[in-house]
Amino acid sequence: MKKIEIALPDEVADQLAFIAAQYINVPNLLTYAVSQLAGDERLATWSDAESWRKLMSGETCPICPSIHDDEVTPDFGYVIAKLRISRFVLVSNQQVRGYCVLTCSKHVAELFELSAAERAMYFDDLAQAALAIQRVYQPIKLNYEILGNTVPHLHCHIKPRYVGDQVPHSPLIEVGKLTLSEQEYRDQVAQLREALR
Ligand SMILES: [Zn+2]
Repeated sequence: MKKIEIALPDEVADQLAFIAAQYINVPNLLTYAVSQLAGDERLATWSDAESWRKLMSGETCPICPSIHDDEVTPDFGYVIAKLRISRFVLVSNQQVRGYCVLTCSKHVAELFELSAAERAMYFDDLAQAALAIQRVYQPIKLNYEILGNTVPHLHCHIKPRYVGDQVPHSPLIEVGKLTLSEQEYRDQVAQLREALR
């Protein structure tokens, strides 16, 4: 086994120590560290109060301007369907096979900002999207991540879990990027649309 010594900025080392306390897979961790050093935004500090307020209110929300578009940029993903109060997208980074995001069509940061009827619609959409993913990819479990600490516009990451993935008792972290061919994305989008019926 080869040992290498590397010097890390304190904040990177602290972040890694924090992650290492939760995730024990070292290759994943190192890949993650490299992506951080390469300028990954996850190391950024919280926005200042005024910038955060504008993000929370939707004023500078990066999702809102394109939320009703039929296509999203291939950098991020491919629209599968518009559901009752959300948009269902196959994420470009398919390192987790079947990874999708369900974004609320309305700008809210927290679930309690939706009316009871809207919330019911959002969770119905989520269940419908999850069932389509289950049918197409046959994972052993689905993870639902509603985070929003980077972009506070309600969205849920739906990540399928498979036997043999690296962190069976933890959420998956993104440790790189797996890009498919254009045809593969189109095929999977078609399968997911079919599975929604
Ligand atoms: Zn928004």
